[in-house]
This record gives sequence, C-alpha cells and structure tokens, in this order.
Amino acid sequence: PADFLNALRLNERNPQGASRTLFSACFTRVCFGASYGFVSLVKTQRCFLYLKGIHMIERFFTLYKIPAALLFCTALLLSGCGGNGAVTAEETKLVMGTVARLTVRADEITSQAALRDGMAVLTQTEQDADGVALAAVEAAAGTGEWREIPRTLYETLSRAQEGARRSHGAFDVTAGALTELWERARAEKLPPSAEAVAAARACVGYELLELRTREENGQTKYEARLMKAGMQFDRGALIKGLALDGICSTWQRAGITNALADLGTSSMLGMGVNEAGEPWQIGIRNPRGERAGDMIAVLPLSDEVLSVSGDDERYFMYEGRRYHHLIDPRTGYPADTGLSSVAVTLPLAAEYAAGWEGNMGMLSDMLSTAVFVLGAEEGRKLLADVPSALVILIGTDGKVIGE
Ligand code: AMP
Ligand code: MG
Repeated sequence: PADFLNALRLNERNPQGASRTLFSACFTRVCFGASYGFVSLVKTQRCFLYLKGIHMIERFFTLYKIPAALLFCTALLLSGCGGNGAVTAEETKLVMGTVARLTVRADEITSQAALRDGMAVLTQTEQDADGVALAAVEAAAGTGEWREIPRTLYETLSRAQEGARRSHGAFDVTAGALTELWERARAEKLPPSAEAVAAARACVGYELLELRTREENGQTKYEARLMKAGMQFDRGALIKGLALDGICSTWQRAGITNALADLGTSSMLGMGVNEAGEPWQIGIRNPRGERAGDMIAVLPLSDEVLSVSGDDERYFMYEGRRYHHLIDPRTGYPADTGLSSVAVTLPLAAEYAAGWEGNMGMLSDMLSTAVFVLGAEEGRKLLADVPSALVILIGTDGKVIGE
C-alpha cells in the first residue's frame, strides 16, 4: 500500500517519523479490520436471529452498530493525526546528468507534494524548452537577423550578460564553440590543436550577443541575435543554479520552510533547518582527496544556495597535465590560475542584489565558474560587489587559500 511505501521511503535519519507513519498505517488497518469484522459479526448474528424470529434480540445487536461506527471513526481520526507531524521525506533521481536528491521536512502530504513538484522542475529543465529557441538564434548567427525567444530565456540571457560584463568575459554564455571543442578533446583524451582552439575562440564573445525587446500589436516581443557565424551558447555554468531557483520559488509558494535540494553536490539549496533544528551541513569535497568522499570543509547552509566549480569534475590527463572543463574564453584553454575548486554561498534574501531577487542560484552558479576562471586575486575583486557571498578557494595543491 502507498502509505507503507511512503513510510519506508522516509529519510533514514528520521526513524521516529518513519516508525510513526508505519504505526499509523498499521493502526488504521487493524482498527478498520476490527470494525469490519465486528459489523460482519453483527450481520451474521442478525440473519441467524431473524431466522429464529426473535426481534427483541435483533434490535439489541443493531445497537452494536453504533460502537462499531464509533470505533471506525476513531481509527480514521487517529490515522489522520499520525500523518500530520513533520517528517523528513526524500527522493533521489538521475536527472540533468546528475544524481539529484531532494529532502523536505513538512507534514507527510505536503512533503510528498513538494518532492513531486521539485522533481518536476528538474525534469522540465532537462527537457529544455529553451533549446529550440537557442538553436534558432545560433542558426541565424552572423546574418544580423533577430530571432524571437521566450521572456524567461531573455531574462536568463540578460543576467548571463551582466555576469559576463562584471567578470570581464571570464564567464561567457557564448563560450559554446570552445566548450564543445574541449568536450570532444575529453572524449578523445587528446588536447585540440592550437589552430582549432584559435578558430573556436574567434566564435566566442559576449559582446557579440545582442538582446532587445520591441512592441508589436500591443505585445512585448523578446529577441536575440549572435553577430558572428559559428557562435554557440553554453548555459552549463548557470543551468543548475537556474533549476535551484525554480525549485526554491515552487517550495516557497507551497509554504515549505525546511528543505534541501542537492544537485550532485556542486549545486545546493538549503532552506531553514534540518531535523536536528540546525542549518543543513554540507561537505565540500577535497578535489585532490584520495577518495571521492574526502571532505575539506563542512559548510552550514540555511536559506542559502551553494555552487561549487572544480577541476576534478570533468577532466582528462595528457602528458602529465590536467585538462578540465572550465575554459578561459580569453585564452581558449582550461583556466590555469592555481585553483582546483571554488565554492560560493549566497543568502536567498540578498538585499544588495537589486533586480536579482529569486535568482541567487543562478548568480552563485555563475560566480563560482567566473571566480575559478579569474583566479584567487581577480575573483575576490569580483566578489567585492557581492558582500554577503562566502567563498572557499582551494588551490591546485588541495589546500584552502586564505580564510
Ligand atoms: P560549472 O560546473 O557550473 O562551473 O559549469 C561548468 C560548465 O560551464 C562547463 O561544463 C561548460 O559547459 C561551461 N563553461 C566552461 N567554461 C565556461 C565559461 N568560462 N563561461 C561560461 N560557461 C563555461
Ligand atoms: Mg557554475
């Protein structure tokens, strides 16, 4: 039965919640069975007595229907009470190329609905409704023609352009030609030729992405164009943050206050507190650790988002050198600034970020990539604009840099 399965799916860290729900499910069935049996007994007795024609005793048994009905209602009420306590419900799914784990603390019905809605946001992001619009803009690249795009995509690209300007192009949503070249290189475990890198680099540049709005028949149209043939988009450095923002607004609308969304440890949303009443505790992986589970720090996360960009996520080794997936658009090569990992946390309600409300996931995702590409010194300058950001920089020796 569904409620038994739900109880078993509950977070193993909350055995009381799980056993309470199991108890409630069992209790309902026992009470239901008892009342059913009792009513059946009454009916059997009634038939028997009818046969004998003893009407007085028949009426006496009829009276027992009332306690049976009372017992039944009590069972229903008690089972309802059992389901109303806060439980920690959890769901894990392979989505967006990562193992996503959502955890929600609320009453059972609300938490199950929140898990379903959160997973729906991830599935939608994976299905990528914007992909078609972006492909149309890429197909028209270099022709000077504008292509219409959805309003939400327009807003995402506008924010990406702001990130590119602030980071002087270290983060660049038009880096697609370069990132694709390096993805192929990773598959072949062979760095591309200098000519191939130069050719791809020539097709990258956020200044060559133009966005505009215009009015047509009283409606606002959102449009984009790429000014050079061969240019391509890559939203890989912001898409998980964007998904976290979607989950966050869905959960906030549903009144969820305590929850964690973990998109493969590189992107996390922590709302409120965990079952111990403390901020969610997030381990930051040591990119030079011997085992995958080696942690270098533990960060408390409460009404905050976290993004981690590291050179240990996707890379290949060639002649003793590490070629990873974080590309410096200004050189065309994997960023080589002495960093192996950058973790950035941002509060969900950051007052300084006017116009960025509800987009902290995307902002922290862009910042972690940009800071990695810029290096410690330039990266800190970029973060000076974002005073409530907390950053952990790890050098290529696997040691935390500074504080
Ligand atoms: P993240 O793990 O969030 O830092 O994102 C890394 C992904 O973003 C890569 O796999 C590329 O698809 C893309 N990417 C790599 N370098 C850049 C860059 N400099 N600007 C924007 N996107 C990039
Ligand atoms: Mg990122």
